[in-house]
Amino acid sequence: MLNNGEKKIAHSFDKSFYCQIQYNKPSKYKEIEKFTSQASNIITCGSNYSYSPIFLSKTSHVLDLRNFNRILGFSKEKKEITVESGLKISELLNFVLPHKLWIPQIPGYPFITVGGIVASNAHGKSCGIHGTIRKSIKSIKIFHKTNGWLNLSENENKEIFDLTIGGLGLTGTIVSVTFTLEKFSGFFTTTKKLVKNLKETITELESEKSEKYLYSWHKPSSTKNFGKGIIFINTLGNDENVVLDNELNLNPKKTYSLRIWNRLTINLANFLFYSINKRRLSENEVFQKVIFPFYGNEIYFGFFGNKGFIETQLLIKKTNFDIFNEELYYLIKKSQPSITLISLKKMSGEQKYLRFEADRICLTLDLINSKLNRDFMEKLDKICIKHNVIPSVIKDSRLDKKVVQNCYKDFESFKEKLLIFDKKRIYRSEVSDRLGI
Ligand SMILES: Cc1cc2nc3c(=O)[nH]c(=O)nc-3n(C[C@H](O)[C@H](O)[C@H](O)COP(=O)(O)OP(=O)(O)OC[C@H]3O[C@@H](n4cnc5c(N)ncnc54)[C@H](O)[C@@H]3O)c2cc1C
Repeated sequence: MLNNGEKKIAHSFDKSFYCQIQYNKPSKYKEIEKFTSQASNIITCGSNYSYSPIFLSKTSHVLDLRNFNRILGFSKEKKEITVESGLKISELLNFVLPHKLWIPQIPGYPFITVGGIVASNAHGKSCGIHGTIRKSIKSIKIFHKTNGWLNLSENENKEIFDLTIGGLGLTGTIVSVTFTLEKFSGFFTTTKKLVKNLKETITELESEKSEKYLYSWHKPSSTKNFGKGIIFINTLGNDENVVLDNELNLNPKKTYSLRIWNRLTINLANFLFYSINKRRLSENEVFQKVIFPFYGNEIYFGFFGNKGFIETQLLIKKTNFDIFNEELYYLIKKSQPSITLISLKKMSGEQKYLRFEADRICLTLDLINSKLNRDFMEKLDKICIKHNVIPSVIKDSRLDKKVVQNCYKDFESFKEKLLIFDKKRIYRSEVSDRLGI
């Protein structure tokens, strides 16, 4: 580690892991080279919005790239933009939306950085059609302590390009990225469909073939009403004359940590959410409410208190969904965990390395961080291994090497290829150490 960096206590977004980090915030390319050359082990960070500690380490020096937030090139004709990796999604959108262009695979919070979305292979609300951010990445520039400056694309250093997308920052510091952009024409109209259970939701999600931004929310009840909920069907307008020159004007919100969630408050909040939404089954929505549903609702995370929460995001084969759903329901009935959120969406893409991507159903659960719930999650891990389910390394801080090794067919291949590229394994995080990568 470097002796001359600043120190601070940092934590993962789910608050499962706290540690003192030593970090630098370079603002010139020469400083990236200098700080990198002085440190033995390094991990680069963006906005620190990862649920699991993939951007933190007790022993690696942390390079914070948020001063690198410039737009380096833009072609409206070619529908391409090159940006530095510390640029936030909201800043990127404020530039491209007035040109009626955007990237459909952006994740659900506006202050996440470009480096963070590439290293986590983020997905958005339409991942059933648009897949993950991988689909929009044309090229990447990285700096690596021993391999130096490298341009990565399908035509140049293809293998490292592939390892870097969803590579958890382990192939070096991402400095800039070129994206291909898609047409954006209009505003969202939201319709809602009430569903009785998760099985019915899957049938509905599967029947939607057109370009819709779809996700569902379900009551986390363990009774026979398990999975009763609402599908949010967001349709993008198609108005050529739409004027999109207003800035999104989004600002980070201060959240307070106060433990409010318990069985009573969870039931009350879910009852209110269902009742309010049931009354308004169709509405015109502002962009940020559809794309960034937690913006303005950050207090939801604050209500878990200082002990934080557990989030698990799982990719389940469509053919295995019914049996998985049945076993999940019986486990919930037996263990009675305190679940605050259940949500489903469709995902599409190719499964490779540690990327959370495949042609599957994506199920998300949030739980209070308690002993009972961690025990429940351990039992769920076993069901996941049994049914070939892929859990997200980005979202679930608890995952150990055995589970990840069993669930990711390319785990060993990712490790081996990384070792060939970086023989000293310089770039390491708390998660990569825990997984033995
Ligand atoms: C409220 C909320 C909603 C979310 N919604 C979604 C969603 O809908 N879909 C989804 O996929 N994810 C979602 N996420 C997760 C989020 O997209 C990822 O965790 C993302 O990686 C966070 O980016 P960050 O800028 O905060 O980076 P950090 O958390 O700081 O870092 C994340 C990873 O990226 C690496 N990294 C960051 N910058 C660089 C760089 N310049 N060079 C090399 N490596 C780098 C880090 O080493 C680390 O491995 C959400 C998170 C929150 C808090």
